Amino acid sequence: MHEPVDWSTDLGGGTRAALIQAGTFRSDAGALFGPVPRILWDRLVTDEIDAEHRLLQALNCLLVETPSGRVLIETGIGERVTDKVREMRRYQGKPVVPALEAAGFDPSTVDIVVMSHLHFDHAGGLLRTDGSKAFPRARIVAQRAEWDIALDDNSRIVASYDQPELRLVHGWGSDGAVDGEVELLPGVSVIRTGGHSKGHQAIVVRGANRALAFFGDLGMRPWSANPRWVSAFDDFPLDSVEVKGELFARAAAEGWLVVLSHEPVTPIGRLTPDRDRYRFDPV
Ligand SMILES: [Zn+2]
Repeated sequence: MHEPVDWSTDLGGGTRAALIQAGTFRSDAGALFGPVPRILWDRLVTDEIDAEHRLLQALNCLLVETPSGRVLIETGIGERVTDKVREMRRYQGKPVVPALEAAGFDPSTVDIVVMSHLHFDHAGGLLRTDGSKAFPRARIVAQRAEWDIALDDNSRIVASYDQPELRLVHGWGSDGAVDGEVELLPGVSVIRTGGHSKGHQAIVVRGANRALAFFGDLGMRPWSANPRWVSAFDDFPLDSVEVKGELFARAAAEGWLVVLSHEPVTPIGRLTPDRDRYRFDPV
């Protein structure tokens, strides 16, 4: 069992961020590396690849405290999974609510829940097992375009989203939807990126001293630092490559802390230009 990484930081001016790892699951290694030939990635994953050729993926969330309110970034897979799905995905560890409580945060004090996109492993934690709201007073923020595509009837879309669950939260969950680049609270902004999914977004938090970025599934693991290394789960890979190039250039130039969405062991780091790509240096 993966031991959650304990990490938090002070960004200055009363803004703090804490990593909350809401369990782990496993994904097919080939699908995670998409178009990249195995000979180039094999050696990066020797320690974690299992007998079924899968990698260990953490469900990284962030609790951001600002003078204007508390923001939770991502909700993981959550607690509403059948034993069959739990076994199939090798889902283990504490879901987001008990993980937040273990870190000393009360879920009922969260003002905003913002998700990079609505795939099952990011939007699964909005409801408790009994169907009640996991974050009762929170505004739920995803891009409006993401809500639209998430409930589409294209068969590939149907496979990547848990549509029955999303329909349960759509009525109130989509009230907080946004379009494009929006500042949710002073210092906390979302930027629509597309790429991984049609309405995918990045989240940028600016404190008085430092900024932190969460690129969602455009920045899953350290090797995502190469803009051309996109996963097979990206629905619009050319958009991913382009937007990763732009965002990573800003992150590198301005020294943003970067939190990866699925890295279990070294999820916090910085991006450094490296030839025609970037390098993720853990901090
Ligand atoms: Zn994901």
